[in-house]
Amino acid sequence: MLREAVYHRPKNNWSYAYDRETIHVRIRTKRDDVDTITLIHGDKYSWSVVGSQTTAMKIISQDNLFDYWQAEVKPPFRRLKYGFKFQSGNESIWMNEQGFQESEPENQNLYFDFPFLNPADVFTPPAWVKEAVFYQIFPERFANGDPSIDPSHVEPWGGVPTAHNFFGGDLQGIIDHLDYLTELGINAIYFNPLFEATTNHKYDTTDYMKIDPHFGTNDKMKQLVEACHARGIKVLLDAVFNHSGGKFPPFLDVLENGAESRYADWFHVREFPLEVRDRVPTYDAFAFEPHMPKLNTENAAVQEYLLEVARYWIEDIGVDGWRLDVANEVDHRFWRQFRDVVKAANPEAYILGEIWHDSQPWLSGDQFDAVMNYPLTEAIIDYAVKDIRDGRQFADLVGYLHAAYPQQASEVAFNLLGSHDTPRLLNLCQEDKQRLKLAYAIPFTLTGTPCIYYGDEIGLTGEHDPGCRKCMEWDETKQDRELFRFFAELVKLRKEHRALRDGTYQALYSESGDKSVAYAREADGEKFIIVLNADTVQASVTLPVENGSAYEVVFGEGEPSAVGNKLQVSLPPIGYAILMLQ
Ligand code: CA
Repeated sequence: MLREAVYHRPKNNWSYAYDRETIHVRIRTKRDDVDTITLIHGDKYSWSVVGSQTTAMKIISQDNLFDYWQAEVKPPFRRLKYGFKFQSGNESIWMNEQGFQESEPENQNLYFDFPFLNPADVFTPPAWVKEAVFYQIFPERFANGDPSIDPSHVEPWGGVPTAHNFFGGDLQGIIDHLDYLTELGINAIYFNPLFEATTNHKYDTTDYMKIDPHFGTNDKMKQLVEACHARGIKVLLDAVFNHSGGKFPPFLDVLENGAESRYADWFHVREFPLEVRDRVPTYDAFAFEPHMPKLNTENAAVQEYLLEVARYWIEDIGVDGWRLDVANEVDHRFWRQFRDVVKAANPEAYILGEIWHDSQPWLSGDQFDAVMNYPLTEAIIDYAVKDIRDGRQFADLVGYLHAAYPQQASEVAFNLLGSHDTPRLLNLCQEDKQRLKLAYAIPFTLTGTPCIYYGDEIGLTGEHDPGCRKCMEWDETKQDRELFRFFAELVKLRKEHRALRDGTYQALYSESGDKSVAYAREADGEKFIIVLNADTVQASVTLPVENGSAYEVVFGEGEPSAVGNKLQVSLPPIGYAILMLQ
């Protein structure tokens, strides 16, 4: 057994409360190196009297180098002392907080400690997110329902998007098309910013308490939220709290009055006056963008203002959560206050951080519920679209992510394949719709909540922004209705089967140099096997199944044939099949 590969450290994603009575303990070993691991555990105050118990650990996922093991324990007194026993061939080794031991340690004080399962510390993301299928709307480009509030110089709907032009999309346009979204089957909308701002993307907020007048009014927003809720659709808003816009009144005041401004401490000013020298502002900004000055979230008045914004839209307007822009550049202390305010306004509100990288420090229950799962986005695109990651590399990344966060965070991870910040998936697929389907089949059959970027479902194209921010196509003769039906069926299938949402995940097949991947999902007595082929030639994989079990393709194309405890599945080029145990 390779001892150097073993890793465990209490808390974070290694030992954490899954709910008010359950603790998950995880440990990492070299891949395929250890036969069994037994968790030895007990109560620290009664161990010496009643002794310890054992629970067999299971491998929950694997990546290129490691196996990740997990055990679930419900300690009656909510305290857990624990250690590990490894069996590898004839070798038995124990591990406690002081390292490896050649025999079972006698001093229980030296075991690992999960001191107490305090309910206040239990990370509890809202349950509805597991059931959700999101749809992302870029409001300026979805639908123009009220020309009377169009910006001046508005261009005809469907024109070429540029960084600065306007087409007149608004809230009424969204209300007018809720039937369309219901037909698609989605049950949550993520809106790019809706608050008053000067740009078409609205990431430069002027007034956080006001819907942009070109989109509508706060009353119209309330009407939209109520109309969505009546259809069972949740609403997520974009909060740009890292920076304000250049026309934010406190910033204008500092521009004018410099250090004498009562708002001087609302921003991170390195040197007065506020100006740009050699393209670098004398104050911190988003990147080096002078019109996006970074807010000082350590300032009490800024905190008070932004926290009232957070409360108002949840409590008074009724929205169901926040997506936080540039979330990892804002201090953790502010996000902890933010969570308290948001969850007091609505305990079921969803807090989603925009973080493109490893995010454990935000996912321990005191800050965010989830992050935008860009590492998975990259893996899916590299595997299914760009052909630069083979099946094994893809499956390894999925396995790694599966163990990277507490389970409840993975269950509500925001899985997207494109956004206002990336080229359209169809463009990445070089307009090969079969590849787009293969790619979208993946987040709909993995743990985490999938999101459709508006227009992907009818074949909208577009390069990196501003190209990916085209006007939605509402002429049905120009929509790809066959693609729309693909999405509607995929959404329906996921909503009908919990196994596809938060069922157990098991990797079944992946090999280096091979573009086929298979995995299983299981819950409520239902079992699915998902088989993917990202190769341009036909593929066939043989999978281990229970003797005599029969599977049928319920979505996609594939030919299963079962012999004994083997299931062989043939897939067409760029093919996918979702099979269900009969
Ligand atoms: Ca309009």
